[in-house]
This record gives sequence, C-alpha cells and structure tokens, in this order.
Amino acid sequence: MESRRAAWIALAVVLIAVVALVVVKVGWRVASPPGAGAVPDAARDFTSAELSRSAALASRLQPNALFSLAVSLMISAALGLSSYGAKIITAVARPLGGGWVWQVLLGSLALALIGRLATLPFSAYAETVLRRYGLSTRGWGLWTADVGKSFAIGVGLTALILVILYGSMRVAPRLWWAIAATVVAAVVVAGSFLYPVLIEPAFNRFSSMPQSELRTDLLDLAERDGVAVDDVLMADASRRTTALNAYVSGFGSTRRIVVYDTLLDSETPAVIETIVAHELGHAKNNDVVLGTAIGALGAAAAVIAGYLLAGWTPLLRRAGATSLADPASLALVLFVLAAAGLLLTPVQSLISRQIESRADVHALDLTRDPATFIEMQRRLGVANIADLEPNQLYYWVFASHPCTVERIAAARNWAQADREAAP
Ligand SMILES: [Zn+2]
Repeated sequence: MESRRAAWIALAVVLIAVVALVVVKVGWRVASPPGAGAVPDAARDFTSAELSRSAALASRLQPNALFSLAVSLMISAALGLSSYGAKIITAVARPLGGGWVWQVLLGSLALALIGRLATLPFSAYAETVLRRYGLSTRGWGLWTADVGKSFAIGVGLTALILVILYGSMRVAPRLWWAIAATVVAAVVVAGSFLYPVLIEPAFNRFSSMPQSELRTDLLDLAERDGVAVDDVLMADASRRTTALNAYVSGFGSTRRIVVYDTLLDSETPAVIETIVAHELGHAKNNDVVLGTAIGALGAAAAVIAGYLLAGWTPLLRRAGATSLADPASLALVLFVLAAAGLLLTPVQSLISRQIESRADVHALDLTRDPATFIEMQRRLGVANIADLEPNQLYYWVFASHPCTVERIAAARNWAQADREAAP
C-alpha cells in the first residue's frame, strides 16, 4: 500500500505541474482587448463563392474524419473490452515462442494494422476529395508511401513505449510506475527534440532558402525580434500539396523555422514575412518546449493513473488478461489510451488555439502591419480552403488554430487598440 500512496502523491504533483504550466505559460491574457469592436464576420472578407467552396469541402472532409474516428474507436473497444485482442496477441507471438517481448511488439503491430486497414478507405476518400479540390498534388504511389511511413513510425513509437511499460512491470512489480513514468516522459522529450532530424526528413527534403532579399529580410526580422535564427529552411511541400504553411519544430540545437516552397511561388515577400513573424512568436515563447513539457508530464500522469487503475480487475478479466503485467492486457491499454485521448482533445485544442492567438499577436507587434496580416490570413484561407464558418462543436473539439475569420477580427482589434489605421 506504501507504493499506492506514493503513486497518488506523484500523480497529484504531476497534475499540479501540468495545470501550473498551462495557467502560467500559455498566456491566457492575449485575448481581444476589452471593448474591442471587430466581431468575426466571414462575409466581410470573403466572397460568397469562397464561402460556399469552403463549406463544401468541410462538409465532405469532416463527416469522413468523424466516421473514421468512430470506426477506429469501435474496433479498439471491441478488441480491448473482449478477449479477442488477447487472442490475437498470443496468436501472433506463438510462432516466435510467445515471450512477453514478442507479445508486446507483434501484438501492438497486429492491433495497429487492424485499425489502420479498417480506416484506410476513409483516408483514401479524403485524398480523392483533396485532389478534386486541387489541394493534393501527390499520386497514389506517394500517398501509399506516406501512409506506410506514418504507420511504421506510429507503430514503432507505440511499441517502444509499451515495451518500456510492460518491461518495468516485470522488473519492478511494485515501483514500475515510477520507472515507466520517468522513462516515458524522457522518450517524449527526446522524440520532440529529434523530430526535425529523424521524422521530418522521412517525408520532406529541406534546403536553405536561396539567397535573396526576402531571405535577408527574414533573418533581419528574427534579429530584430531577438530570436537566434541562422537559417530559414524550405520544405518541398509542393510534391504533395498546394496548401500554404510554415512551422517551427524542435528545440535547442534542433530548432528550425520551415516555410513551404508553395509560399515562395505564390505569395508576396510582405505576406511571407508576416507568416514568419507568427512563427518567430512560437520560437520566442518557446512553444515547442511548452508543448513538449505538457506532453511529457501528461504521459507520466497517464502511466501513474494506469498503475492506480490496475487494481480494477473486472475489465482486465474481460480482456482475457490475468493482470496488467500480462501483455494480453495490451488491447485494453490501447483502448483506454484512445478513449482518454479523445476526451482530452477539446482541452488540447483550447490550449493550442490560445498559443496560436499569442503567436498572432506577436506577429502584429513585430511587424506593426495589420493590413498585411489580414491579407495573409485571407490568402491562406482561400488557398488552403480553410473552414471559414466552422461548426461550433467540431471547432471546439478539434480546431488547433482559431479560425481564419476570428484571426482577422483579432487583427482588427489589435489595430484599434494600437490606434493603427484599421484596415
Ligand atoms: Zn502557429
């Protein structure tokens, strides 16, 4: 019982740390200034043809994504809440002797493969829609390679974490939760650090942005902002998409600012500078570090909560496992993680939207050019066929960014508050 008490205390400490990080570091005060007048109004900045195209695309993609999610959860539930999952896990490991490592490795591969195959038609349908709307430029060969690589990376990471989990249960039956929580959190940190050098190159080629006035201006902008940037990278996104985007990934020595090559072909230097100014906001606020810290602590909390719930045997028996340490429990563990992940999605999205708003304000403060910011949002909204008038519930659960129309309204409010000429 000593160990359970320690686990409860550790869980409380980790959860308090997560809440403290979210409250203190996310910057909740960047919302619209009081009394700000501009309200989101899609018809003000977009033509009715643009609005109906946006609504049409969303009405094809979103139900498809929801069906895919539902199918994936139902399969996970069917495998985890019955003994079918356990039967598959023991069956796939049997030819190799049935040891626990093989059960975990081949079991997670088999379960993931079932889920992936079941949702493949939804992914393929989404691809045909993106193609029809001119957003996707990749052929089925590249699509298949992308799906295969994403699957391999996902299964590899899941299997690694599950081996750590089940391995520590065997090594230290009473204190495994402390070991596993620490190691899993460290894996999350290492993963985020190595992501730009290990994962991103599997999908895109990166090159330094060619010498140009724009490149010099972007580096000057970073210097003026006090963000150490010695290169701006260009990704060959045009192999797959016509969408316009930029992002920051990694931290410390792996941190990089990446712009899609699609931007350079179609947008003015002023628009690209405003996009990079937003990304500099993420860099300056250390948003990748913040996201990584929240992810690592969240993963540690999940491990400890798993340990505390493991005494709850009816579900384990139902799943055909003798205890949590029995790899036959793997399908149940994956289902609980999927369900908990879905329940936490609205919270994650809310935090992400707040971080994005803060980066927008940073871009406005840095460039002091709300007119170009609004032009940039308009251009991206049209080119990416963004969901301009999102369904409120869908937005609340899934949207990682404020919608285009909100971002434009926020820029108008910024201009008003700063007495700039409001465009
Ligand atoms: Zn952003």
